[in-house]
Amino acid sequence: MIEVFSDFDGTLTNQDTLVLLLHRFANRDWYAIEERMLSGAITELDGVREELGMICAPDEQLMQVIDNEIEPADGLDEFMSFVQERGWRMTVLSGGLIRFSGALWDKWGYGNVPLYANDHRRDSNGCIEVISAVTPRIKNLCNHCKRWHLEEAIKRGSKVIYIGDGLTDFCPAEAAHRRYAKGNLLQYLHDKNLEVVEFKNLHDIVNDLSENPI
Ligand SMILES: [Mg+2]
Repeated sequence: MIEVFSDFDGTLTNQDTLVLLLHRFANRDWYAIEERMLSGAITELDGVREELGMICAPDEQLMQVIDNEIEPADGLDEFMSFVQERGWRMTVLSGGLIRFSGALWDKWGYGNVPLYANDHRRDSNGCIEVISAVTPRIKNLCNHCKRWHLEEAIKRGSKVIYIGDGLTDFCPAEAAHRRYAKGNLLQYLHDKNLEVVEFKNLHDIVNDLSENPI
């Protein structure tokens, strides 16, 4: 069986939902936390809690901004049809928040395709508190460990394709049989000398998989 695992924000969407929310609703300190995460000074596990803890606007207000501004990535429908026609299993792995990414995913008509992400509640000040993920963590780097899902698929004997663009994709992409990347993930995989195919939009991935079957 072939299984496709994809990041959500910035990969299946036109922009990152958490970055959008941080820009709109957090104070500028979040930039410094982001820098520390990207440099490896702190893990995403700690950084995401700190960053999102700065967002205190209610969920309805956050969802309204997301609903107005986040759109499907270029080529999403073509890519999803390509995967479905081949009978491949698709799973979306998000470092974002399930209540927002899940709502968009449903709205775009893909509610039947599993999406895993972080969940949140509100702390005593009414600000976002990221809930500890229920799935196990392989390296304890991220709250929602994407790599765990890949390793389970590999144990099932599946060939695994991974698609992503950011920090929470570094660890899972390393485990995949075929990698598609852009942004920070592309740079990371190049630095690690791991084989990777660059993509700019989802049409590129359809074209590459058509020409180079896994
Ligand atoms: Mg991303």
